[in-house]
Amino acid sequence: MLLSSRVKGLSYSITMKLNEKALDMTDEGKVIYNLSGGQLPIKPLPEFIEKVHHQLNFLKSYQYSPVSGFPNLRKKLTRSISDARGLPSETFENDFDCILSNGSKQSIYNALGALVDPGDEVILLAPYWVSYPEIIKFWGGTPQVVKSNVFDAFVPAIDDIRKIMSPRTKAIIVNSPNNPAGVHYSEFWMKEFAAFLLEYPDLIVISDEVYSDIYYFDPKPSYFYQLDHALLNRTIIIHAISKTLASTGLRLGYAVGPAALINAMGKIQGQSTSGPNSLVQRALMDFDLKLVETFLGPVKHHIRQNAASLQEKFREANLGHCWYQSTSAFYFMIDFSRTPMFARFESDKDHSYAIADELLNNEGITVVPGSDFGVPNSARIALVIEEVPFQEAISKIIKYLNRI
Ligand code: PLP
Repeated sequence: MLLSSRVKGLSYSITMKLNEKALDMTDEGKVIYNLSGGQLPIKPLPEFIEKVHHQLNFLKSYQYSPVSGFPNLRKKLTRSISDARGLPSETFENDFDCILSNGSKQSIYNALGALVDPGDEVILLAPYWVSYPEIIKFWGGTPQVVKSNVFDAFVPAIDDIRKIMSPRTKAIIVNSPNNPAGVHYSEFWMKEFAAFLLEYPDLIVISDEVYSDIYYFDPKPSYFYQLDHALLNRTIIIHAISKTLASTGLRLGYAVGPAALINAMGKIQGQSTSGPNSLVQRALMDFDLKLVETFLGPVKHHIRQNAASLQEKFREANLGHCWYQSTSAFYFMIDFSRTPMFARFESDKDHSYAIADELLNNEGITVVPGSDFGVPNSARIALVIEEVPFQEAISKIIKYLNRI
């Protein structure tokens, strides 16, 4: 089959592949500790389920929604972003709009499609979410990666962003709280970033905030545009119900940004999938978003506890130098390169896959190889499984890391 070069350049999602393999092994009766998941392993709150249930009775729930989503919901979500970020209520009123899509992944895909011409460069801050480079390449762009490391808790330096800027740079994607690092960038970082943006008035920012409600250490995530509202004119904010409402399968995400860009994204959506799921949009329209905070309280507590036991176990096992303070989302990056077991590997190559494979085959643990996040010789683990199996899994990982 003669497939297009565009699709030949795409990789499969490794996260999904590993999840599938872990499920197959579980079906075969093996005990698997699945630390590779990218979702909360719980149902959404009953009040939201009740709203979905209620909307099942209406014809409109089964019919097309407008391409960009129901106008009332778009307004409601725009307002909720502006309230959550403490922006003056009129900030988004005139030249801004919102589009709902089939998960925020589609909004990111549409935004990059609306912005990127072949040959354009888009800056990614490593570690970055696996899909960004693939989507950029799909639209003919080139990802340019700014590195970071465990010593800086995987927070990249603004000066390194400056160094990678070129006349072809079109946009930058900032993902705070970050998947996979499990940290959000500090207010100080955001201040420096806002100052950097003033040096490059044409640079557009895609601010992926899908984890902004999930943080377990204060201060809560803050954003560059809160410090200078004019930056909103070239910022597209990405959010979703996937993580906030533990509803990855309902596929509802959204983008808030300058109307011209949102309209362009609507064009792509109109000629691809049309509007997202009417049923879920209608349920969300009717749902009190303030309940999210109460829902996430125990979730954050649980993640914080798992993060604390990870720290304790790493310290006890003399692996404290591989540890950093995670603060948000629900992930942690393990840097293998400074652990005893790494002596078996050539240090100038990336062995993330081989190590993830060993962890699955020998210890029954699934992790996501760090190479897909732009961090060689590392892996992402999720901090969401129940406390006891989580601790068992970490003990097994530590034994593996300390084995020469
Ligand atoms: N952005 C980040 C950083 C993510 O981790 C994910 C999913 O894991 C997404 C966007 C896409 O989420 P969804 O399409 O479910 O809204």
